[in-house]
Amino acid sequence: MNAIQKNEVIEGKVVDLTHEGHGVVKFDRYPVFVPNALINEVIEFKVIKVKKNFAIGKLITIKEQSESRVEPPCIYYYKCGGCQLQHMTYQAQLDMKKEQVINLFQRKAGFKDVVIHDTVGMDNPWYYRNKSQIPVGKNNEHEVITGFYRQRSHDIIDMDECLIQDGLHQDVINKVKAWFNELNVSVYNERQKQGLMRHVVIRTGHHSRELMVIFVTNGKKFKQSDIITDRLIATFPEIVSIKQNINTTHSNVIMGNDSYTLYGKDEIEDTLSDVTFKINDQSFYQINSIQTEKLYQRAIEYAELQGEEVVLDTYCGIGTIGLYMAPKAKHVYGVEVVPEAIKDAQLNATINQFENTTFVCGKAEEVILKWESEGIKPDVVMVDPPRKGCDETFLETLLELKPKKIVYISCNPSTQQRDAQLLAQHYKLTQITPVDMFPHTTHVETVAQFERL
Ligand code: SAH
Repeated sequence: MNAIQKNEVIEGKVVDLTHEGHGVVKFDRYPVFVPNALINEVIEFKVIKVKKNFAIGKLITIKEQSESRVEPPCIYYYKCGGCQLQHMTYQAQLDMKKEQVINLFQRKAGFKDVVIHDTVGMDNPWYYRNKSQIPVGKNNEHEVITGFYRQRSHDIIDMDECLIQDGLHQDVINKVKAWFNELNVSVYNERQKQGLMRHVVIRTGHHSRELMVIFVTNGKKFKQSDIITDRLIATFPEIVSIKQNINTTHSNVIMGNDSYTLYGKDEIEDTLSDVTFKINDQSFYQINSIQTEKLYQRAIEYAELQGEEVVLDTYCGIGTIGLYMAPKAKHVYGVEVVPEAIKDAQLNATINQFENTTFVCGKAEEVILKWESEGIKPDVVMVDPPRKGCDETFLETLLELKPKKIVYISCNPSTQQRDAQLLAQHYKLTQITPVDMFPHTTHVETVAQFERL
């Protein structure tokens, strides 16, 4: 029987933070998770849910405030589902992310000797997103609204400013919203599954400053497209491409398969270090360019390339990491499961005139077996899987291939930790650097170095 009852108001001290950034108050060993509470704070909270192993509390008052607490700069912060950590100083966010990695690798998995570096943060952790995907809807007064979804819902909060996306995106979206209203553009209603305009997606090349605007519509006929296109070009000289993407499905997936260019080029260009990338409306491209460069830089350091190595870039997306490494390697082989991404990788290799790269479409766990049978002997393997981590066959093949170094980038350190335990049969996990790719959110990205024993 729990001593804690629903609706009870309790005072307690926050002793820990979850990976979601929620404060943890403990009664004996029973935890209560309290969103928006910070470590070391003495708080009063109301119990809103009681489960067998934990309870959830709602913060009422802070009796003793943490030094890490700040007023969230964004006025939508407590409603919007986009950011979770704006009530913390940026340094506290970076520390929390490092602590999470220490917990997973040193305390939980027992990698006692691994060096865990400080989280690499941003000098200015705002306006970093180079891609914005903004839902379009209507309010009760039938006015067009654009913004972000409320936490755990699909209600759109009308927003005039978002502090984590490229500042120019907001200027574009505010104009577009006004024109949608003025020109009576039909807007998609998710519940009724009717109406035209679903999302406006904006992408920018961080260095090139080239801008692409994509109207995602439920159907092809978009009768105001000419006038809106003309106005966009006249107002924003940075725009080099305007597209329409058709999505007639009734799912949460934002974009459909078919796109048309309404104005300008089919894609935008950007550079990461000295490598040029072409990005179309559907391309996977890292969201935070400044941090991506730091992440890849650290990955290159961990690979310790001398110029003569055979490198595998597994889960390569559009080949960004492999192309980044190509000038410093003998040959780079990339593998990725999405065919369009591989086409982009091949195109990007050509644009940059790299002749020492090969990109193959397929599952990493299958293609790596093929490479093994062809006698390809990698010196360094880059691994950058999705959240679920690597397939076991893949890791076993890696152990057979015996590269000198494995550099494993992860967007989910808990699956990375699981995979690290398998690699530990023949590899020493030497060091890990967390890189803050998404400031003010709970997302943690890490790059880890493994050396053959
Ligand atoms: N390395 C890239 C992309 C990393 S995201 C970059 O830095 O930009 C992870 C990638 O793994 C995605 O592009 C996804 O499509 C791909 N992927 C997922 N499962 C895969 C599998 N089984 N084999 C190969 N690629 C896979």
